[in-house]
Amino acid sequence: MRLTQLFMPTLREIPAEAEITSHRLMLRAGLMRKLAAGVYIYLPLGYRVLKKIENIVREEMDRAGAQEVLMPAIIPSELLRQSGRWDVFGPDMFRFKDRHERDFCLGPTHEEVFTYLMKELTSYRDLPKILYQIQTKYRDEKRPRFGVIRSREFIMKDAYSFDVDWEGLDASFNKMHDAYCRIFDRCGLKYRAVQADSGAMGGKESSEFMVMSEIGEDEIALCEKCDYAANVERAQSKPDVKERQPEKPLQMVATPGVRTIEELIRFFGTTPDNFAKTLIYTVKGEVIAVMVRGDREVNEVKLINILQCTENDLNMAQEDLVRNVTGAEVGFAGPIGLKADRIIVDEEVTYMSNFIIGANRTGYHYVNANYGRDFKGDLVADVRKVSQGDVCVKCGGRLSVSSGIEVGHIFKLGTKYSEALGAKYLDENGQEHVMVMGSYGIGINRIMAAIIEQNSDENGIIWPMAVAPYHVIVVPVNSADPVQASAAEDIYNTLCQNGVEVLLDDRDERAGVKFKDADLIGIPIRVTVGKKAKDGLVEVKMRKTGESVDVAIGEVLGYIKGQVQREM
Ligand code: ATP
Ligand code: MG
Repeated sequence: MRLTQLFMPTLREIPAEAEITSHRLMLRAGLMRKLAAGVYIYLPLGYRVLKKIENIVREEMDRAGAQEVLMPAIIPSELLRQSGRWDVFGPDMFRFKDRHERDFCLGPTHEEVFTYLMKELTSYRDLPKILYQIQTKYRDEKRPRFGVIRSREFIMKDAYSFDVDWEGLDASFNKMHDAYCRIFDRCGLKYRAVQADSGAMGGKESSEFMVMSEIGEDEIALCEKCDYAANVERAQSKPDVKERQPEKPLQMVATPGVRTIEELIRFFGTTPDNFAKTLIYTVKGEVIAVMVRGDREVNEVKLINILQCTENDLNMAQEDLVRNVTGAEVGFAGPIGLKADRIIVDEEVTYMSNFIIGANRTGYHYVNANYGRDFKGDLVADVRKVSQGDVCVKCGGRLSVSSGIEVGHIFKLGTKYSEALGAKYLDENGQEHVMVMGSYGIGINRIMAAIIEQNSDENGIIWPMAVAPYHVIVVPVNSADPVQASAAEDIYNTLCQNGVEVLLDDRDERAGVKFKDADLIGIPIRVTVGKKAKDGLVEVKMRKTGESVDVAIGEVLGYIKGQVQREM
């Protein structure tokens, strides 16, 4: 492709809303444009990258024995009503009515439709099956942001496995796990597979594939010693068990105007691990108090799982309600005399001695509180969020918390959908069973942005060879020089004819501009045709390392083929 013909509108000025590197570079390099919030147009260079990622995914799915189909994006409401998700999805789903007033949605995911299809199969001999598609998904995200990392229309590869039993599902799940590792390796990503929350979906086990990145919206706990890796939403740590001190008598102390943990620290001249804080929530009309150590945060995902409710059911109590149940101003809640329906106490609190709690009286706290003697919870559980330096539950090493971008999610669904939609089979003895399912998603556009997050410098993108829109760009330094121009043409033609993916910068621009653009769009190999062309030499430069060598014009094809192959 010649740059004089390529539709590649590069930008100098970047819209302020592009907060992160990949978003800025995708706009600057002319890979995509925004049409509406969370809705994007892919331009030729961007679309080539997208198709390459799709192909890597497709090859690895096929290699794992999965079969590709294509589902409609339009889904009739009946299917989602059967699984109960028509209501669960809420405003995240794009809904519409047809001319006959029938309800439809634009598919946010396709568990129901695949399960519906599997009703065609009725015998154990037909199983296992793994089906997948690469298709556009629609989610009216509350906060579309970071360009194509969280958009409202995006391409997902979603696969679904159907097995006769749980062991079968384990095998399918492991196959998909391995396929995912190969996909992300081939895309040149640094990633970790982490344990994820399977919460309300009713599933057994799930793993998320996280690309390590500061801009990631997920927090991941990683053990510095063993392979423990979990999304902070579900990560556990050993409770901090301090040696028990002899119990001192409980005492109410006047603490006028002291409400926050910071103020308490100053007032008592101690550290936050000597306090236990009490937070008040409402869940479907019930008042739930949750206690954690003063330096801890409540992990609301754990709480949601304990309470068997949804994210929308759980709310922090309004001030009026807090006043009602504590009989005090906000800031003095504690477990003694609290009018809550249930008190859930984090296990760590039960190991503390002589600690400080709110007294449910404005301007007062208790000191020397002890669990068991002074108060009890209705439930003791792990409801705290792990934090940096916590002790690993698996090996006793230290946990560190870092950020990641979720690019894939694999999930043991079990029988939730096959039961709801009636995907059944007959075994050898003619007995009927429901199929056991797994679901496996990958965000194609999100991978593209994640690759840029991990592979760029101040000059632009550095595409890994396997996903680069083109492998080579040929740049004549001075197009007005007939020797350079014709050598560049010759090299370009030779590479084209031999199946190398190549761009020719035949624009009438200064060399500096051409080099800047080649760096910005991140083409892995640049062939510079300059003054030495008259001596039969050109310079071949690698974008990633900046290394360059002079190569004889006659050897350029072989040299480049070798470089491309090495990096694929
Ligand atoms: P998130 O927690 O980021 O919202 P999710 O749990 O909703 O993700 P899944 O339903 O598991 O995501 O979808 C599978 C994959 O699809 C995700 O791993 C991610 O790569 C991609 N994905 C999900 N939502 C979006 C989105 N709004 N824009 C782009 N990609 C997305
Ligand atoms: Mg989501």
